[in-house]
Amino acid sequence: MASKKLSIKIITLFPKFVEDFVENFGIVKRAISLGLLKMEAVNLRLFGFGERQVVDDRPHGGGVGMVLRADVLYKAIRSAQLKVKSGKWKVILLTPQGKKFDQKMAQKLSKVDNLIFVCGRYEGFDERIRQFADEEISIGDYVLMGGELPALVISEAVMRLRPGILGKLESTENESFSTNYLEYPHYTKPEIWKVGKKSFRIPKVLLTGHHKNIEEFRKEESLKRTKKRRPDLLK
Ligand code: SAH
Repeated sequence: MASKKLSIKIITLFPKFVEDFVENFGIVKRAISLGLLKMEAVNLRLFGFGERQVVDDRPHGGGVGMVLRADVLYKAIRSAQLKVKSGKWKVILLTPQGKKFDQKMAQKLSKVDNLIFVCGRYEGFDERIRQFADEEISIGDYVLMGGELPALVISEAVMRLRPGILGKLESTENESFSTNYLEYPHYTKPEIWKVGKKSFRIPKVLLTGHHKNIEEFRKEESLKRTKKRRPDLLK
């Protein structure tokens, strides 16, 4: 890894999405103050044309909705790229037509020090902007109204894999998808939890303090639930 700092720039018409995220989460704020993370919105509006800072127009050939102009997007992308101080960067276009995001992609992206996200709105982008993107990513087979939430989803999945951003207490090693298994179930206090007449207990082995048996139990549970919930992961 070239640098200890991950820099994220999100090109958007709604910078508040990003600003709220940055200002409201303890882990994110801590990572920023430790110099491990920089995260900012790039306001697409500032690159718009004319007094009204126009960023979109009607689709050629007709049809409903508006399309973000490639020339405006290009100016914003270039401006973000020029601000990159060091290290590799990737320009990522958010689109439901992109490659479907998963933990493996998060791991790959966590090796890149500068991520530039481009959020669409309305009907999406002028097709010609695609050639200036390194990747096109979708967060799932459904259509949202803009790329802001997808950009934040990907940013969050990536940043927690960067060294130092999560505290030592939260581990990313055994968790779901980091192997091909879902993680085992967790239990905490109380040992016996009463709801009306019902009592819910925790598996006895967890109270024995017998590390080997506990590890064995967790492995079995992990396999069992993967078979039941996500057999596709085991193929
Ligand atoms: N007309 C487009 C969808 C536009 S949705 C189409 O049919 O493909 C408006 C914007 O929201 C998109 O440009 C994209 O940036 C974002 N978006 C919507 N759903 C998304 C998803 N599943 N993953 C990533 N981005 C998405």
